Amino acid sequence: NARAAGIGNWAVFHPEIGKVADYRQWIEAELHPAFERGDFDLYYQPQIDLMKGRTVGYEALIRWKHPERGMIPPMEFIPIAEETGMIGPIGAWVLRKACADARHLPDDCFVAVNISAVQFVTRDFVGMVGDIVRETGIDPRRLELELTETAMMQDRGRAEAILKQLTAMGISVAVDDFGTGYSNLSYLVDFSIHKLKIDRSFVSRIDTDQNSGAVVSTIVGLSRALGVHAIAEGVETENQATLLRAAGCDVFQGFLFGHPAPLKIAGGQLHPTAAAGTAKAASLH
Ligand code: C2E
Ligand code: MG
Ligand code: MG
Ligand code: MG
Repeated sequence: NARAAGIGNWAVFHPEIGKVADYRQWIEAELHPAFERGDFDLYYQPQIDLMKGRTVGYEALIRWKHPERGMIPPMEFIPIAEETGMIGPIGAWVLRKACADARHLPDDCFVAVNISAVQFVTRDFVGMVGDIVRETGIDPRRLELELTETAMMQDRGRAEAILKQLTAMGISVAVDDFGTGYSNLSYLVDFSIHKLKIDRSFVSRIDTDQNSGAVVSTIVGLSRALGVHAIAEGVETENQATLLRAAGCDVFQGFLFGHPAPLKIAGGQLHPTAAAGTAKAASLH
């Protein structure tokens, strides 16, 4: 059934589109008109540095609000956009909008943009990034690109060169979902990487599973040895935050500190959730 196939509760909410294949076809057919209509938006989720006691950056997360069907989660349409090639225009739109939106976010904050593995290996990816940085006027030091290990490992030599060029432009690179992808860590020696994002799966189990705590402290130790930042993603409870701190991690992203929110909410210097997150940071410090 649809749930077993990993496409969420669609078949439950939309019994008229019962079959997984039909749902996939529907998404495939709808992506282009949705893009033309302007169904897509970016939400922003704060990243809080406990030592600085403030929000230091925001991750841009795509949202698809279909006029009839409502919100469609990225995990359901990004893979299809990757297969059909729609990720090209969608990914470029995301990057351009996030860079333009940066002017409405506090200027001591960076904006982090997810880059699909497919997008990363398109011809002249670096040129496209450079064009968008120039067009939007964003200070490249405020731009962070989130890549998965899988994205970087498709063509190692090329990835190394691309990361070097991005770094030379002043752009930071974060490894998303760190710890779930690639067990060979040798790329960390060669690649220009600035941050490890500790996958939510370790964070969500940290209060029940000692091994998760061990993995988190090891990643934090690794990041220190490499001279890169570490951030825990998907922090939902105070207990998790306390255990993460004990494991040496002090930069957090997650519902505990702020949900993803539209720019006009995130962009007010007083993002209610970010303000709450900062207050929470102070209480945990
Ligand atoms: P990701 O990059 O690892 O993003 C984090 C996901 O975790 C987001 O889901 C976010 O809403 C969710 N999250 C944040 N804090 C918490 C928490 O405390 N608890 C839980 N349970 N979840 C939390 P979202 O927005 O549904 O995005 C899912 C994935 O879709 C992203 O994972 C990323 O891989 C992809 N994605 C999202 N936006 C974009 C985009 O603009 N471009 C590309 N290429 N991929 C995107
Ligand atoms: Mg991400
Ligand atoms: Mg992530
Ligand atoms: Mg993740």
